[in-house]
Amino acid sequence: MLPAEVEAQWNKKQKKLAQDLEKKGSRTAEVALADGTSILLIFLGEGLSTYELHTQLRKQFEGCLSSYGKGENEFSVDLTISMLSSKAQGATLKAITALAEISCWEPTKFGKAGEKQQSERKKHQKPYLIEVACSLTPTAFRDAIEQGQALGEANNSVRTLADLPANELNPASYQEHARDFAKSHGLTYEFWNIAELTKRKAGAFLAVNRADPHSKAGIAVLKYRPKKSTKKNPVLALVGKGLCFDTGGYNVKTGNYMLGMHGDMTGSALALSLCGYFAKINAPFEVHAYLALAENLISPTAYKPNEVVIASDGTSIEVVDTDAEGRMVLSDTLAFVRKTKPTLCIDYATLTGAAIRSLDTRRGAVFSNREKLAQLAVQAGDESGERTWNFPIGQDYREMLKSKIADIQQCASVNNADHIYAATFLSHFIGDETPWVHLDLVPADNKGGLGLVSTDTTGFGVFWTAQLVDEALRMAAKEAPKGKRQ
Ligand SMILES: [Zn+2]
Repeated sequence: MLPAEVEAQWNKKQKKLAQDLEKKGSRTAEVALADGTSILLIFLGEGLSTYELHTQLRKQFEGCLSSYGKGENEFSVDLTISMLSSKAQGATLKAITALAEISCWEPTKFGKAGEKQQSERKKHQKPYLIEVACSLTPTAFRDAIEQGQALGEANNSVRTLADLPANELNPASYQEHARDFAKSHGLTYEFWNIAELTKRKAGAFLAVNRADPHSKAGIAVLKYRPKKSTKKNPVLALVGKGLCFDTGGYNVKTGNYMLGMHGDMTGSALALSLCGYFAKINAPFEVHAYLALAENLISPTAYKPNEVVIASDGTSIEVVDTDAEGRMVLSDTLAFVRKTKPTLCIDYATLTGAAIRSLDTRRGAVFSNREKLAQLAVQAGDESGERTWNFPIGQDYREMLKSKIADIQQCASVNNADHIYAATFLSHFIGDETPWVHLDLVPADNKGGLGLVSTDTTGFGVFWTAQLVDEALRMAAKEAPKGKRQ
């Protein structure tokens, strides 16, 4: 909240200032107050969607940062005041706090540039001081700030991992990171390595891994339990595709398509970072994150099209395309999750080019085995500013995955809408009894940023999940299976 004398000046000036700026077509202004405080005013438009509001906020913030000479001079905005006239003050405050956190992030540099970056960061470690003129109660104000900060941190964590090149982030180093992350966030941690997955008969996962007999691939499992943990706590299972590099295998990626494939682990970075987020805000439900960590490589032992492999639930799969490795590692992971009977399961994956061709990289593609949950997933996109679009799955699509030699084909033979067939394939392994949402991470990369985020790597999914989960868990809990949880 504002000090009384600042507030008085603010009240006096704001109306005239707003009118003046509106005339000039400007949306921001800096005002120097008598006490030496520098106030940055940001005027938010009325009647905007959350996505538009976030984009406007980010662009104004960016403009202010550049005019304050970020990098060379110390960042000197002492106060950011948002003129809030809408009812959504808490949500806006949360977004501004997240934005402050997000805009501190820059890609990790290596070598000499990295050393310079480290020392620069230390020099400029001055947190943004943000105060907002609004009528929230102190509790609502604190909650919005804390949640905004935690959201920003989670988004930064996703972008850091997604940007690391394959020689820095591989299944071995990722495990170490996940273990340290678990420790610092009070989560339990275990790792199912190749020997364990062999014992569990995870033939689909192991097929992808076969190219590298010495690989450190496996599934990392992190769990958060609320302090007042009871057997009745809902359980949210988060599953993420963690392909630290994807060559395509024998269906090798040609031309430029292999570039950027170190980011094929972004789904797992979301599952990990969101587990940390929910721990940080003391969520009243359990969160179990499953990170399917592997690489899709080429070698004489690599898996090949037309092979038949048996997944851990006994399903035989005819391999069609070795570049569809994401759905292979996820099929076994989802089959394991299914056995634990969570209240709700969400999986994240940079899964298909078809989804990108359908939507461009501005919305996520969502699928669900529940009509209402699919609607909720789209609604959460509109409300959070990370927008999504729903595509169908169902028995008629399942027909196209029929195989002559196995229970199911990995991909449809005529591949017009691979995102739909990929989701249909996954739905077989999570089954009908577990409420499930699949997010094809189409906007993981969007040139020029998206919403609150200004970098090409967007960390898309954090805000969407945070918005979706409460209501989705409530909906899912109403129909939770009675069976015993493992
Ligand atoms: Zn692939």
